[in-house]
Parts: sequence; structure tokens; C-alpha cells
Amino acid sequence: MKLQEKKELLKKTVYEMFPDAETELYHNNEFQLLIAILMSAQATDKQVNIINRNFFEFLKTPEDGLNLGVEEITEFISSVSFFNNKAKNIFKTCEILVAKHNSLPPKTIDELTELAGVGIKTAKVFLSVTEGAPYLWVDTHVHRVLNRIWIVKAKTPLGTDKIASKIFNAQDLAKLHDTLVLFGRYHCIARKPKCKTCPMLPWCSYKEKNLD
Ligand code: SF4
Repeated sequence: MKLQEKKELLKKTVYEMFPDAETELYHNNEFQLLIAILMSAQATDKQVNIINRNFFEFLKTPEDGLNLGVEEITEFISSVSFFNNKAKNIFKTCEILVAKHNSLPPKTIDELTELAGVGIKTAKVFLSVTEGAPYLWVDTHVHRVLNRIWIVKAKTPLGTDKIASKIFNAQDLAKLHDTLVLFGRYHCIARKPKCKTCPMLPWCSYKEKNLD
């Protein structure tokens, strides 16, 4: 099967499997979404959501963050990885949002990455979710799926990111990001992929398919 056909089949598969795909990070507004993405570095969405269902009752705006202060933010998020740094970054980001952005998250990569703890990944995911911006951020799930199928051959998520962003059409990237993450998280799982029921099975190049 040619690469173009493989890409189209994968798109059809993930779009059909996850027609209503959207971020699974708990949030009630764009500010909370930004904070949730920031917290999700080296943590699972599940861990972050457990914390934020309570934390976000007290952090609805950047002003709330300033009122809480670093110490209280640290207490709220102490069960997530790197909580000390993340708490400082959340507080600092609240300060910058209030001082420079009218308490609202900005909508450009340059402005977003000036916030504390917001790297290019966080900025791209945020803009992809809020604006449908054409970014396919390759996390561990997307990296695994694209390499198993052999749409991409790259050793690292960064390598996959560079190739994938070129071979897929820009208008597909935001939706692909949302659906591929869920495909990797729930279907093409790291340890036991559900190959037996996978529409990609005849065209997938993964050598250790799980056919149980
Ligand atoms: S056949 Fe298996 S390894 Fe290949 S994409 Fe489907 S679930 Fe993943």
C-alpha cells in the first residue's frame, strides 16, 4: 500500500473511531485549559484531572492564582510530578496574564511561550484545542502509532513530529492530533494493542501485533 493510501486509511480509521475527539483534560475555560496542559507535562491526563476537579474550584482566573500564592498552589498540586516547579510556573503565568494580557491567555506561539512553564508543546496543544490551529503535536501515543504503521520512521517523538507535520495536510493536523492521541491511548495501546479488531491490521508494519 502506498504512503498516501495508508495516510488516508489511518485518517478514516481514527476519525470514525473517535468522531467527537477532544482533549480529555478537565477545564471550564481557556485559562484553566492552559494551566491543565502546563501541569500535564510528565503526567497523565488522569492524574491531572483528579487534582484539577478540586483545584479549579479555587483557580478560575489568573487573579485567583495570585490570591492563592505559590504555597497554596503547591499544596493543591502536590501529587503531580515536578509540583514545586509547576506551582511556581502557574503563579508566574498568572502574574504575566494579569499584567500583560488582560487576564486572558494570548493566542500566538510567541506570546504563549513567554509565559512561565509554557514551552512550544504546551503552546501548540493549547492553540490546536482552542483555535483548531494546524499543529500535530507528537506525544508518545502519536509517535508509537505512526511508527508502528510505518507512516513515519523516526526514533524520537521530535523526529516523528518533524516528518508528520510535513506529510499530512495542514488542515488535517488539529483533528489528527486529537484523534491519534485517543487511538494510541485506547486502541493501539503500548503493551497490548487491539490488533485483532484494527482496521489498519492488513497494512500495519508492527512486527509484534497482538492477535489474542
Ligand atoms: S494493527 Fe495493531 S499495532 Fe497496528 S495500528 Fe492496529 S492496533 Fe496498532
